[in-house]
Amino acid sequence: MKVLVPVKRVIDYNVKVRVKPDKSGVDLANVKMSMNPFDEISVEEAVRMKEAGTVTEIVVVSIGPQQAQETLIKTDATVEPLAVAKLLAKVVAEEKPDLVILGKQAIDDDSNQTGQMLAALLDWPQGTFAYKLEKDGDKLKVTREVDGGLQTVSLALPAVVTVDLRLNEPRYASLPNIMKAKKKEIAEKSPEDYGVDISPRLTVVSVTEPAVRQAGEKVEDVATLVSKLKTAGAV
Ligand code: AMP
Repeated sequence: MKVLVPVKRVIDYNVKVRVKPDKSGVDLANVKMSMNPFDEISVEEAVRMKEAGTVTEIVVVSIGPQQAQETLIKTDATVEPLAVAKLLAKVVAEEKPDLVILGKQAIDDDSNQTGQMLAALLDWPQGTFAYKLEKDGDKLKVTREVDGGLQTVSLALPAVVTVDLRLNEPRYASLPNIMKAKKKEIAEKSPEDYGVDISPRLTVVSVTEPAVRQAGEKVEDVATLVSKLKTAGAV
């Protein structure tokens, strides 16, 4: 099997996000950026499938600025999930993978849309929020995390999978492997090369900090709690 793994460069999960004073978005100046944590899980899963012999080739693609290193499709513009999905559909047509493994969401804007949109554009089956992936003959068994617990679906290939947090624990890349990865050839393209219009379809009205949490209060007993809740109009 050949696998395509799209990875996004996002604000590092340890960074305390600051909103720009004009409320137009999040301040990215001099902020540490990293690979989207869910995409680390997708890469790990693809590598494990290769180590197990199920996968023969892995292609990684990122859509973003030069600093994204693995960049294949270079742009400094904001690329919304629909435009990402359209570009990925073109990469799929070019690379012909049997499987695309994406993160369930990118932690910058938490869209949780790209995988679903890509599956719709390709008209491929999709298994979202994967907890476990197993090759089952010519099918792919995907155990999904759903509200009520776990659900298992069987997908005909080619298919799109998005991964959830518990699928695996990504390994640390060793220095020799990082050096080896640096030598890999990077094909660089632009959205125009694929003929995809990435102009925004969405308008951000305002980005604001979440409201500061109110201090809690300890009460003597249940009766006081109920009476306080009643006064506050909560019950
Ligand atoms: P989202 O729909 O934006 O929450 O992103 C879901 C997943 O789509 C991410 O975990 C990535 O696998 C993929 N993705 C989103 N944006 C990009 C991008 N600019 N480049 C490559 N992959 C992306």
